Amino acid sequence: MREIDLHIHTTASDGTCTPREAVRRASELGLRAIAVTDHDTIAGHAEAISAGMDYGVEVVRGIEVSTRYGVSVHILGYYLEHLVPLLAGIVNDRDVRNEKIAALMAGDGLPVSYAEMKRRFGEAIGRPHFGRILTELGLAESVSDAFDRFLSRDKRYFVPRRTVDIDSSVEAIVQSGGVPVLAHPFQYKKNDAELRELIEHCVVHGLRGIECRYSGYDLGQVKYLEGLAEEYGLLKTGGSDFHGGNKPHIRLGTGIAGELDVPYAWLERLREEAEKLHNT
Ligand code: AMP
Ligand code: FE
Ligand code: FE
Ligand code: ZN
Repeated sequence: MREIDLHIHTTASDGTCTPREAVRRASELGLRAIAVTDHDTIAGHAEAISAGMDYGVEVVRGIEVSTRYGVSVHILGYYLEHLVPLLAGIVNDRDVRNEKIAALMAGDGLPVSYAEMKRRFGEAIGRPHFGRILTELGLAESVSDAFDRFLSRDKRYFVPRRTVDIDSSVEAIVQSGGVPVLAHPFQYKKNDAELRELIEHCVVHGLRGIECRYSGYDLGQVKYLEGLAEEYGLLKTGGSDFHGGNKPHIRLGTGIAGELDVPYAWLERLREEAEKLHNT
């Protein structure tokens, strides 16, 4: 039986399960705890925590911030108490970018209203939502196909978004009461030396952990990341990056082929770290 999943997206950002639905599913799987880590927003926390009490699942208040470090690097934050203005402002930058994407689509004659999308999808709209619209309009077969055809970098409806640099992001997570953790380290296509450089850079600004177990990571990769975490005195975390129907191959708690298994003990270390942070 799996114990926890510390990387979950809900309808507060680009997942397709509401926070309550995500908690309900976690409880059906017998998970003891989950973290809601929506992109750039904590809007799902209240509903998830309330559902957590109903279903007896411990809910951790998290976030995932896309930061700038040459490539885009994702930093998770856990046990956030609030969002400092720098982080709260990211949703507005998304909004500006999204308006431009919607205008490009409307310019091509597509019936897309950004105001309507906001009513339907909430505040943290992302490219996956545009992918859904393109799928519904019959222009793509799935969200991921919509990325390949229209939304990935250099495609017709790609518009860059202003991002916060990694130093300020890590620091802002700490200032928000959160424990910063480097998300899915193999996603950045870095070799050992480059990954170490990234970790050492982040540690200076307050990084406390590495996401060592993640959907699709094999045993060798996991051992390597756990070794790095131990070497640098960092906490280990793990999670699926569940997005519901927007990434249908990823399963809550267990990953893609059952490879994911995250121990509850790791959450206890994380909670202790947050308590230390909150008491200073
Ligand atoms: P945004 O932050 O709005 O630019 O959108 C980026 C988000 O799109 C990422 O966080 C992923 O969850 C999602 N995403 C990126 N590539 C794909 C893909 N090929 N299929 C589905 N979702 C994707
Ligand atoms: Fe996402
Ligand atoms: Fe991510
Ligand atoms: Zn994620």
